[in-house]
Formats: sequence, C-alpha cells, structure tokens
Amino acid sequence: MIGPAELSAGITSLRFAFDIAKGLKDIADATERNAKIMELQGAIMDAQAGAIEAQQAHATDVRHIADLEAEITHLKTWDGEKERYELKAIGSGAFVYALKPDVAAGEPSHWLCPNCYQKREKRILQADAPPMYADDRYWKCPACCARITAPFMSGPIFPLVG
Ligand SMILES: [Zn+2]
Repeated sequence: MIGPAELSAGITSLRFAFDIAKGLKDIADATERNAKIMELQGAIMDAQAGAIEAQQAHATDVRHIADLEAEITHLKTWDGEKERYELKAIGSGAFVYALKPDVAAGEPSHWLCPNCYQKREKRILQADAPPMYADDRYWKCPACCARITAPFMSGPIFPLVG
C-alpha cells in the first residue's frame, strides 16, 4: 500500500534534485559542476526508484481491491443462493443441502455438497459409481470429492426422504 512515508520520500528526492539543478548555473568551476551533476543524477535515480516502488505498490493495491470486490460479489450472491437450500437428513446418517421446492424456479431437484456449502461454494452432488449394496446410492461432490451414501430411493432422482 502506498503510504504517506513513500510519498514523502519521493517528494523529498525530487525537491533535492530540483535544488541541485537550480544551483548548477551558478557553478563556474567545471569539476565542481560535474560533481553536482553526478549528485543530481543520483537524486533523479532515487526519485525514479521511489516512483517505481510507488507504482508497484499501487498495482498491488489495485489487485487487492479487485480481489476484495470479487469476494464481496461472491458473498452477496452466496447469501441469496444459500437461502434456497435446507439441510436435510437423507436417511443414511448423512446430511445434504437440498433445493427447497418452493424456490426451485424451474431448476430440477438437486443436492449440494455439505462440505462445500460450509465454504460458501455451491457444488451439486452427482450420482456416483454403483454402490456395493443395491439398497444404497453413492453421491459424489465434483469439487471436494466427498462421497455420500444415501438410500437408493432417496435423492433428486426419486422423491426426497423426510
Ligand atoms: Zn464438496
């Protein structure tokens, strides 16, 4: 972040360079003038370095602000979205977040991964490989790979249990 110290240092360097440049016309001795020119070049380089540092700090600030804005947008979207789901016991001892039928707005019934829901991420559980027991059905999160066992006759394919 660009703070008052960085700005003050840059202004001081420029002021110093300006003072040296102002005094150059009054120096008759070539050796002394050359020494002052070298000093001026040093002050200009310091000011340039300060400007580059400030520019980099500004670019970092801009990126940080963009990240925060994206996070705020995500949180606002998530706040509305999370209200469309409710925690449901699915009859196997596991829980999912199920789409409330009254706010489905045409979307097919589906479950969200409870792990990802806690991280404010909407991840729809997908039917997974055939289960070991025919009475069960496996559901898998495509993001965190959580695997949930549900009774075969529950879930979005069939009417919800509970
Ligand atoms: Zn997940």
